[in-house]
This record gives sequence, structure tokens and C-alpha cells, in this order.
Amino acid sequence: MLRAIYPGSFDPVTFGHMDIIRRSSRLVDELIVGVLNNKAKTPLFSVEERVRMLEEVTSDIPNIRIIPFGGLLVDFARRVDAGMVIRGLRAITDFEYELQMAQTNHKMAPELETAFLTTSLEYSYLSSTTVKEVAAFGGDISQFVPVPVADRITEKMKKKESVD
Ligand code: ADP
Repeated sequence: MLRAIYPGSFDPVTFGHMDIIRRSSRLVDELIVGVLNNKAKTPLFSVEERVRMLEEVTSDIPNIRIIPFGGLLVDFARRVDAGMVIRGLRAITDFEYELQMAQTNHKMAPELETAFLTTSLEYSYLSSTTVKEVAAFGGDISQFVPVPVADRITEKMKKKESVD
């Protein structure tokens, strides 16, 4: 049984992430989407909100679980008994960082393999950061994220505006 983890911040989940999730869920028996709770970063959405959005937009995929985690990915992988990490590669700019992380993880946990899926061409430009930037200036983000996520971002931006 092959259980894989697709880890990330997913702040918020985009069509680029969804593409990797769908494609990798077909390659493994069980896919765990690991939602990183990084205390050093200030995300737009809490880890609970990110988990909820991911659950909503992946509800039609049968072999998937969304689980929040903090700390080292290798520890999380051991805890959930996963043998593989899936990462998406958008462009050469992703490569150096991803290679370094995969090799570090491999040193710490030789039993854990990292597999890369190259992004589908239509999503190669897409990142959570640019989606948030476009939304902050009132731009249309419906091409970048699923509808429930777009709604949640718009709500969040309105709340932020009323606080600022
Ligand atoms: P991180 O905080 O680790 O950068 P992200 O949530 O931004 O996490 O991304 C998680 C994973 O999804 C990474 O492997 C990243 O390369 C991949 N990814 C992000 N956006 C896209 C995209 N548009 N197409 C394919 N893969 C993507």
C-alpha cells in the first residue's frame, strides 16, 4: 500500500495545487494533504480554515485525507506511515529549493522518497502569493482558485479592510 503526503501551506489552495492533488491521487493508494502550520509565518488563513477549504474542494476524491502538521516533514511522514512525498514543480526557480529539501529529507529519512510532478502548463504561473495580491487590489481571482475559496478570500479581504 502506497501512502503519499503532499505537503504545503495552501494559503489558499489554488487550481495549481488542485491539479497536483488530482493527478497524484491517481498514482497512490492514499494521498494525505499535509497542511503546514508554520508558526514563523503569518498566513492569511488559519490552519483550520485551510484544512476546511481543502476538504471542501477535494470532497469528490475518495482516497484523500487532509491533515494539519507542524515541525519536520519526516516526523509527520513517520507518524502517518507515508513512504512518499509529492511536490509540484512549476519552473526552474522551484528546482533548487525543492532539490535541497528532498535531499535533506532523504538524509534524515532514507526510507522516504520524494516524487515531483511537473505543473500543467496552464497553471505554471500560479502561486498562492499572487492570488492574494490580485485579491487585495480587488482583481478577479475566479480563474485561479475554486469558487468557495474565492468567496472566502473576498470575505477575508473585506474583514481586513475594515480593520486597517
Ligand atoms: P510551500 O509553502 O511549501 O511553498 P505551497 O502551498 O506554496 O507550499 O505549495 C505546495 C506545493 O505545491 C509545492 O510543491 C509547490 O511547488 C506546489 N505548487 C504550488 N503552486 C503550484 C502550481 N501552480 N502548479 C503546480 N504545483 C504548484
